[in-house]
Amino acid sequence: MVARAHIGKLIIGGTYPVRIKGMLKGSLTDRSSLLAEARALVTEGAEAIRIAVKRPGEAAIAQYLKKYIEVPLVADIHFNYKLALEAVENGFDAIRLNPLNLTKQAEIKEVVDAAKRADISVRVGINSGGFKKDFSSEQALAAAMVSSALAFLKILERRDFSNITVSLKASTIRATTLANRLFAKKSDYPLHLGITATGPYQEAVVKSSIGIGGLLSQGLGSVIRVSLTAPSYLEIRIAKYILQALDLRSFGPQIISCPTCSRCQVDLIKIVNDFQKEALTLHRGGHTLPGKIALMGCEVNGPGEARQADIGVAFGKKRGVVFKKDKIVGFISEKSCVTELLKRCVKMPYGTAKSRNSAKTQK
Ligand code: SF4
Repeated sequence: MVARAHIGKLIIGGTYPVRIKGMLKGSLTDRSSLLAEARALVTEGAEAIRIAVKRPGEAAIAQYLKKYIEVPLVADIHFNYKLALEAVENGFDAIRLNPLNLTKQAEIKEVVDAAKRADISVRVGINSGGFKKDFSSEQALAAAMVSSALAFLKILERRDFSNITVSLKASTIRATTLANRLFAKKSDYPLHLGITATGPYQEAVVKSSIGIGGLLSQGLGSVIRVSLTAPSYLEIRIAKYILQALDLRSFGPQIISCPTCSRCQVDLIKIVNDFQKEALTLHRGGHTLPGKIALMGCEVNGPGEARQADIGVAFGKKRGVVFKKDKIVGFISEKSCVTELLKRCVKMPYGTAKSRNSAKTQK
């Protein structure tokens, strides 16, 4: 069983659901923009927010943001242990320390003792880019990442400190996977998963989904952070899609739709986009919708997929057949299908499909 850590009130590890962490990208000097960004992350579903603290005095941002948002804050610290001490003093709920650039034992001990007194968490975060040498293979890199993390953890453990999460991130999926799997064999600290420096948006989404999703599907990982060269709220959205795709958590209705082909006689791409937008608006407004909703382009796979969802529609020419499980319950026209299907959805109890299970395991 994975150990537990806590970042403020957010419990990580144990049997708790996999958490989603975000990161602010804006300048700390433009406080109102930063607050708007933080609020967007919270609205999207971030459960903890990391902030890079680079200079003396910057940690005071925690005091400002905490006046407006309740999500716990994590200070990302490199090189300078005094910044970590400032983060603790200013009310951050966790600090991320990098064993590859915070190496003096006396400094580490001072930070850990301060974190312990304040009852805040430490993430021991290794990034492969922090090594100053090349490795002969990805296995060798992964082994070096793990041994650096374990050596750092020993210092924390000798101070009787255990409110810890660990991350081992590389820019390749293979090295990240090897490092996390190796670490999990040696230690039960909760793992924070991520693939770092993933590249442009679409490639980054693919890399993150395979890397993070692969580890999650092997039962590893207690908190995830998706890194994209894109606005920060998109990182949270993709994190939610990854968790939902693996049926680990549910954040609203899952839409099952086909890729369309020449058999499709409606504009399914538009229908699905419009439906998703409206469904999310209803979900955010407090309406409960079915867990799985299928929108299929024709009668070939449509009825089958629609039946496996809580509710579904298989389109034909200008209209669609609506299924609830294996029963046909009506017909809807192409023109008003989004509104008509949503009307039927909001009247249903929240999902009977298995994706709903994880919705209850939060908090
Ligand atoms: S469900 Fe029908 S329209 Fe959609 S991809 Fe399959 S065959 Fe084509």
